[in-house]
Amino acid sequence: MDRQMEFVLRTLEERDIRFVRLWFTDVLGYLKSVAIAPAELEGAFAEGIGFDGSAVEGFSRVSEADMVAMPDPSTFQVLPWVSDDGRQPTARMFCDILMPGGSPSWSDPRHVLRRQLGKAGDAGFTCYVHPEIEFFLLEAGLDESGRPTPADRGGYFDQAVHNQAPNFRRHTIDALESMGISVEFSHHEAAPGQQEIDLRYADALSMADNVMTFRYLVKQVALQEGVRATFMPKPFSEYAGSAMHTHMSLFEGENNAFHDDDDPMQLSATARSFVAGIIEHAHEISAVTNQWVNSYKRLIHGGEAPTAASWGRANRSALVRLPLYTPNKSSSRRVEVRNPDSACNPYLTFAVLIAAGLKGIEGGYELPPEAEDDVWSLTPGERRAMGYRELPTSLGDALKAMEGSELVAEALGEHVFDFFLRNKRQEWADYRGQVTQFEIANYLGL
Ligand code: GLU
Ligand code: MG
Ligand code: MG
Repeated sequence: MDRQMEFVLRTLEERDIRFVRLWFTDVLGYLKSVAIAPAELEGAFAEGIGFDGSAVEGFSRVSEADMVAMPDPSTFQVLPWVSDDGRQPTARMFCDILMPGGSPSWSDPRHVLRRQLGKAGDAGFTCYVHPEIEFFLLEAGLDESGRPTPADRGGYFDQAVHNQAPNFRRHTIDALESMGISVEFSHHEAAPGQQEIDLRYADALSMADNVMTFRYLVKQVALQEGVRATFMPKPFSEYAGSAMHTHMSLFEGENNAFHDDDDPMQLSATARSFVAGIIEHAHEISAVTNQWVNSYKRLIHGGEAPTAASWGRANRSALVRLPLYTPNKSSSRRVEVRNPDSACNPYLTFAVLIAAGLKGIEGGYELPPEAEDDVWSLTPGERRAMGYRELPTSLGDALKAMEGSELVAEALGEHVFDFFLRNKRQEWADYRGQVTQFEIANYLGL
């Protein structure tokens, strides 16, 4: 048994922990959990815990349903007070999913990301990310017309917010930090009820785990404050949606491979090609970064969401933004990818973003000219003339772009790629068959 496992077992005993939750994530990004008693953990470290994979979205076909959850002791953390019933503390560990023979499962999102990070490692890079996560706090329940109600009337950066569950952000940050997840900034976002919390950078795999933990804790704290939290990309037609802007950098050893002192923008050739890769492949990866029918309601003109595959510096309508450079802080040089939304699967999203960026580096892609203009203020014809390519405007469009993509098939692996397309085509077909309130209001002609 290694030292991390010994540490886990010792902590369980010392803190009198009664349950350990073993966490993993399905292909669509839902958190799954099985609680085990501490006495079972030694066995779980040796052999994993068997479960029926056919009951988990995207995991296996019925004929090969047995799968194994193998706890990763490096992810052990005691859950904060918000998540237990006030008696004995509970802990959690993320798991890797294995086939019965012990090989990694192709349907495990954590494995998809690990594999991509392995490829980055072969090219000499470590990937760091930090997300800015937006979400809404809502009143419990829906109004008479079936719509949600924001929990406050605040706006961008507002301090005192009438009605808002006042301790929400502080309690969330306390909970996150107690689990080793550092928060860099937090503030009220532009829309009523909308919040943003930005996590301090970490390697991409730890960060994907952190995002899953974040969503869980935010929902728990909201419940305790008498409100609800949603990561739905666009809950209100009249307000901006919730983005998960993803800041990314590649390091070679101690050095930030995105930084170059001699460049006017302090941006290295590696960074330029990485960004060019993301811009070039943005359409193919869109169904992963924006995986729901609702995701495309956010990606419209206005509301500071990107609508075209472009990059810029101050420009918030661009897909990739280069945040202001802090002199003498080459380590913080990074690029901000703005299309992912808060309801994406973080493992798969980081995997396809890194795959697209690395492809740009390998292929020596050239960065297209900067989007100087507010892309939203141009007509589609003007945008085309300037070489901008619109991002997919619906899940259906995004699936078409993904279908033929070697890059995405390779990044997700065949099993996840096929499952994802099948599942999402069904979602799109179900949605297309709906007659909406908009149509009733406009076409009934009574
Ligand atoms: N909420 C905006 C979006 O959906 C982003 C706002 C911001 O720039 O922070 O993309
Ligand atoms: Mg924001
Ligand atoms: Mg941002």
